[in-house]
Amino acid sequence: MSVLNVDRPAPLLEEEVVLFEESAARFFEDHAPEKRVAKWRADGIVERAMWTEAAEAGLSLLSVPEVYGGQGGDYRHEVVLIEQLGLKGVDGFGLSLHNSIVAPYILHYGTEEQRRRWLPAMAKCELISAIAMTEPGAGSDLQGVRTTARLDGNEYVLNGSKTFITNGQTANLICVVAKTDPAQGARGISLIMVETDGAEGFERGRNLDKLGQEAADTSELFFHDVRVPAVNVLGGDEGQGFFQLMGQLPQERLNIALQGMATIERALELTIAYVKERKAFGKAVIDFQNSQFVLAECKTEATVARVFVNHCIELHLAGRLDAATASMAKYWVTDLENKIVDRCLQLFGGWGYMAEMPIARMYRDSRVQKIYGGTNEVMKMLIARTL
Ligand SMILES: Cc1cc2nc3c(=O)[nH]c(=O)nc-3n(C[C@H](O)[C@H](O)[C@H](O)COP(=O)(O)OP(=O)(O)OC[C@H]3O[C@@H](n4cnc5c(N)ncnc54)[C@H](O)[C@@H]3O)c2cc1C
Repeated sequence: MSVLNVDRPAPLLEEEVVLFEESAARFFEDHAPEKRVAKWRADGIVERAMWTEAAEAGLSLLSVPEVYGGQGGDYRHEVVLIEQLGLKGVDGFGLSLHNSIVAPYILHYGTEEQRRRWLPAMAKCELISAIAMTEPGAGSDLQGVRTTARLDGNEYVLNGSKTFITNGQTANLICVVAKTDPAQGARGISLIMVETDGAEGFERGRNLDKLGQEAADTSELFFHDVRVPAVNVLGGDEGQGFFQLMGQLPQERLNIALQGMATIERALELTIAYVKERKAFGKAVIDFQNSQFVLAECKTEATVARVFVNHCIELHLAGRLDAATASMAKYWVTDLENKIVDRCLQLFGGWGYMAEMPIARMYRDSRVQKIYGGTNEVMKMLIARTL
């Protein structure tokens, strides 16, 4: 249980959700033990079998209705899964992106035919998804993307390159942000769903060597005259992409805050246990007033963060989480995550710097939380618009 004394939001205390939480925790204990996760980190990729194992355990497409092959749950189940991935240190596994970022695009904006075509296969993890927005020359400013999708008969012809794409080596269903009308700004952007198996002209580039989250296959993708059926434009109509992306951002940002919160709680738990054991100058490290004050401050700030994150979960479950509030959660919690993990690492002394220690991995893995999903500077820009 968490080191923080904050009540869970009531919707997460319902018996069915608690049972799901227990089974998700057991799944990661059984299927993602340290040794296996270490291998994924060394390989730079989570092995394909893990996706199937997760699907068989009922962990895929949690909030997609059963009629489309999903688990018929809702955002509460997504919360639990993201928390468990963080608490068990399985951050590099892109399942929550598949479940709670890409699937909602198809569920909310896809045509009925698109939902029936892709969601059941995604639920079985026969199709693994990715979202490809970022390009070598455009990240924060999405309107600057240069990938194009030109209509030719009843097909789009895709050209361009993407980078930093999570699940990039594994995914075989990729939601590509492309310009269908380069002469227009936001209205010229569409989301094109690319089924990559056998797609001519589609090429995966490097699996990028990163500072942390090494098990995530964050990659480059290239599209050279890739022909995609015109019916693969998400929602059936061109020019909707930018608005579809904006609609999903609050959930994506809350997901990152949840991941940050789980890391904060895990860091505190591990550090408190360590300082109680570790001895210096004839006493336990926790007996120094400095250790107590550092951890008291961290616990206080973590408690404040948890209360706010719980508030955001409740808002989102009620359909009332706006972009600015989600941005506050994303930027503030991920800044705090980096600060707390750093302070905790210090209490481990030299051991904190050893790659084998979970706190060292958390230090490296946390850094990107301030960058992806919209940088924390972009979050402040969005908040400032409401002033
Ligand atoms: C591990 C990892 C996984 C990722 N996964 C994905 C993925 O699955 N799909 C995907 O599409 N992308 C993904 N990304 C990309 C990520 O979303 C982008 O890196 C991020 O949005 C920033 O874009 P950029 O890298 O182009 O930075 P830039 O936009 O070049 O920003 C550079 C700096 O300028 C600042 N800046 C930019 N605009 C402003 C402004 N208006 N005001 C103030 N400061 C500004 C930024 O905050 C930043 O500090 C991933 C990135 C990483 C590292």
